[in-house]
Amino acid sequence: MAIQGDWAFCEKCYGLFFNGYAQKGRCPGGRGGHKQPRTGMGYNYTPNHSIPGNQYTQPDWEFCVKCHGMFFNGYSGGTCPAGGVHQRHDQAYHFVLKHDAPKLYSNEQPYWEFCVNCHGLFYNGFNDKGRCPATPRVMLLNGDHVHIGGHKRHPQAYHFVLRFETPAPLGYTLNVGCGWPPNPSVCPGY
Ligand SMILES: [Zn+2]
Ligand SMILES: [Zn+2]
Ligand SMILES: [Zn+2]
Repeated sequence: MAIQGDWAFCEKCYGLFFNGYAQKGRCPGGRGGHKQPRTGMGYNYTPNHSIPGNQYTQPDWEFCVKCHGMFFNGYSGGTCPAGGVHQRHDQAYHFVLKHDAPKLYSNEQPYWEFCVNCHGLFYNGFNDKGRCPATPRVMLLNGDHVHIGGHKRHPQAYHFVLRFETPAPLGYTLNVGCGWPPNPSVCPGY
């Protein structure tokens, strides 16, 4: 199975971005690009690519060469924080993401969602929904520009699961089973 590491959660916008380059892309949460947290959600995510989809996976997820985020390329439209729509690279991997599977492994994390406004993948496990590039942008007193609204999921959309390298960072409690059997009722946010 083909996988790629160095994907990370951005603590500024709550999106998934590729952290393997020195340049950290464009973040709707302000200048300096996307930023991986040092603790907590600071996982090294390892999405599958270049395999066919099935009932528990969705293809057409791509790296955006402009913002360095993960976005769904199966629709037209979307909004890139670098302006215009997201743009894939001709030679880039085609990612295939797991969703709504009956079993959740200890190195998998639920609560990842498609944003209907920007078409990016974002973490929906917090009350705060991060910074969506499809919402209005304002200038802060320090001169930085940030988008002021959060990402938004569709009520019927898939719930995605991301695998990450183990062991988990110290101090982080993994919600194993949350959102799926055997404990579907204990999930906040769904
Ligand atoms: Zn970001
Ligand atoms: Zn983009
Ligand atoms: Zn969004």
